[in-house]
Amino acid sequence: YGDANQKIDYVFKVVLIGDSAVGKSQILSRFARNEFSLDSKATIGVEFQTRTLVIQHKSVKAQIWDTAGQERYRAVTSAYYRGAVGAMLVYDITRRQSFDHIPRWLEELRSHADKNIVIILIGNKSDLENQRAVPTEDAKEFAEKEGLFFLETSALEATNVENAFMTVLTEIFNIVN
Ligand code: GDP
Ligand code: MG
Repeated sequence: YGDANQKIDYVFKVVLIGDSAVGKSQILSRFARNEFSLDSKATIGVEFQTRTLVIQHKSVKAQIWDTAGQERYRAVTSAYYRGAVGAMLVYDITRRQSFDHIPRWLEELRSHADKNIVIILIGNKSDLENQRAVPTEDAKEFAEKEGLFFLETSALEATNVENAFMTVLTEIFNIVN
């Protein structure tokens, strides 16, 4: 999970967005520290976590930004998006509303972020299959139409979290190389 003395070839800023309680902070916690908490308190203050990994023999520091709970009011500021080269657009597969809000988040993202930003749509909480409210096909279709990557994840079970980050980071890496 990274070495403090390591030489860094690239720093990629990636932002997490989506409705409150979809699991953004737990996805980040799983990726950055391999930890998960069932009673995660609302995030306080804008913050990011980093993890350094190797892509094609280069060391890449992923700097992942998490919202400060302002997503409730959709008042995520332009400073949040500044310099971002990747974005993870997260909904909760058990909450239809969180998926129905995705077009608005995408619109906000496209109006604030760089036009070449790499975006992945993430349906989180795939472990709650018996409570599913968003068919995988609906999300897949939307992602294809909008030109987004798409994966379903479970921060709880650590399913596809690594895969989701690697998809975004590798695509960014390929664009800059
Ligand atoms: P955020 O507001 O988008 O940052 O959401 P949080 O990361 O704080 O998560 C909201 C709630 O959903 C917390 O109770 C988490 O424990 C729970 N949660 C997050 N990810 C998962 C998951 O993959 N599966 C399940 N079952 N619960 C999750
Ligand atoms: Mg949070």
